[in-house]
Amino acid sequence: MADTIFDKIIRREIPADIVYEDEELLAFRDVNPQAPVHVLFIPKKPIATLNDATAEDAALLGRLLLAAADYARREGFADQGYRTVVNCNEYGGQTVFHLHLHLLAGRHMHWPPG
Ligand code: 5GP
Repeated sequence: MADTIFDKIIRREIPADIVYEDEELLAFRDVNPQAPVHVLFIPKKPIATLNDATAEDAALLGRLLLAAADYARREGFADQGYRTVVNCNEYGGQTVFHLHLHLLAGRHMHWPPG
């Protein structure tokens, strides 16, 4: 898989506002926030898109979701609510080809999304 800007963030080659890290995951604030809270949760393992995840990655993907929910609880907006999004490829609006989960919170979300 080609190196992306997120790999550079993992390697600390470019700065990011990191809010969570463990052996397998990293979370940092989106540089162009679409809500008062906009955090990206990424696996350190380079998986380009959701299409490239395999059964071997099931636990990793589960951890990604649970890390976002834990963050929402810690930051005190879990009950108020939030949205998680994974964009995939062109029609999904994906621009960085390192799988990531958007966590958006702090405002009322609309449905359907644009
Ligand atoms: P996608 O469109 O692929 O689902 O989401 C990529 C996200 O990464 C976008 O929301 C974009 O603002 C964010 N992003 C792109 N480059 C950087 C960067 O260098 N640093 C940070 N923190 N976020 C970035």
